[in-house]
Amino acid sequence: MMGDAAVLDDARLTRYARHILLDELGIEGQERLLAARALIVGAGGLGSPAALYLAAAGVGRITLVDDDVVELSNLQRQILHDMTGLGRPKAESGRDALLALNPDVQVRALVERLDDARLRELALDADVVLDCSDNFATRHAINRACVAARTPLVSGAAIKFSGQISVYDLRDADAPCYHCLFPEADDAEELRCATTGVLGPLVGMVGSVQAAEAIKMITGMGEPLVGRLLSVDALRMQWHTIRFRRDPDCPVCARRGPAAAASPGG
Ligand SMILES: [Zn+2]
Repeated sequence: MMGDAAVLDDARLTRYARHILLDELGIEGQERLLAARALIVGAGGLGSPAALYLAAAGVGRITLVDDDVVELSNLQRQILHDMTGLGRPKAESGRDALLALNPDVQVRALVERLDDARLRELALDADVVLDCSDNFATRHAINRACVAARTPLVSGAAIKFSGQISVYDLRDADAPCYHCLFPEADDAEELRCATTGVLGPLVGMVGSVQAAEAIKMITGMGEPLVGRLLSVDALRMQWHTIRFRRDPDCPVCARRGPAAAASPGG
């Protein structure tokens, strides 16, 4: 039975024991996870491991958004789904898989394409947002919503053998947003898995890093990937980190800085 508070009864102490044993996480961290709300946009290659790990970790309320249906060609990498899900909405197939793994969490499945207003509403209602989408337009829309709502954003991307992860903590006025790093361009060339291909385990690696960063953001442990872009080249299995700063002229986040808030002549 689902407790309304983040109470650690015997079943929970057992289920989450290997997390509770971690000094950096402990009982307090587990209670934060149970009380947390995560928004996962995309129930595909990245969203699959991200959602599975967050549900397994006991993130109390998970909203899974995807307007697509499960196809046979998804099953090479989208491990949230199986043969029984073919033709079903990914959000609903995913919700069933998460609840089968851990009935201790609440999962809301949204089969919809989100416009800016709806994204902002959902971002406001979340403690952390995971961008597991597969196109620039959605990524920028999620970023705008997270900047407006001041909700931390864990962003992941994967194509062919290349993956990238970063965290944008929009609660910090000096932290960069997604647009600071990847300015929106009309002529941006977009590679899609559907036409380009992607190594199955690569999306598992990237989505798992996203889950780890989301757990860190919720529990407050460690050092998040803020201001750092982590890249992986799975063909050579090389990982790199580059540091980046906020763009003071960024049209999405520039106005939130302390300079803009200061009163003139004050
Ligand atoms: Zn920005």
